[in-house]
Amino acid sequence: MRWWCLLAAKVAALAASHLVLIFWINRWIPNSTLGLHLGYSFAVLGADMAVFVAGYFFWLDQKLRCRDCAARLRMPVATGNWSRAMLFAPPQLEWICPYGHGTMRHTEVQLSGVQADRWQKNDEDFWKAFEDAWRKD
Ligand SMILES: [Zn+2]
Repeated sequence: MRWWCLLAAKVAALAASHLVLIFWINRWIPNSTLGLHLGYSFAVLGADMAVFVAGYFFWLDQKLRCRDCAARLRMPVATGNWSRAMLFAPPQLEWICPYGHGTMRHTEVQLSGVQADRWQKNDEDFWKAFEDAWRKD
């Protein structure tokens, strides 16, 4: 839920900054028409591009946040094998939430079209996934 609230806040911030920029441009160049006044048109184009670039960086940040608590995902771990990418173990990057809510998996090889990142929610016992590695049997 926090992830969606953060996304909504970012979209609202982008919309507000776009409105402020357009308002400021209209005050700076009054009574202009888009497409007829070159300076006004470039100013609006620049404002649109600035908001688009900010939105792109907001989305890059949002992709690597925990779906539960919206904390930045940490500790990227490379898994898989490049030499076996076609068959058994495609290379992936995994990030985890620092509070143990889940794991994000990003496939590095896109063989059959674009594969979306996968979020896997952890069970209550966060350390259960590592118990087998600690056993000395
Ligand atoms: Zn989390």
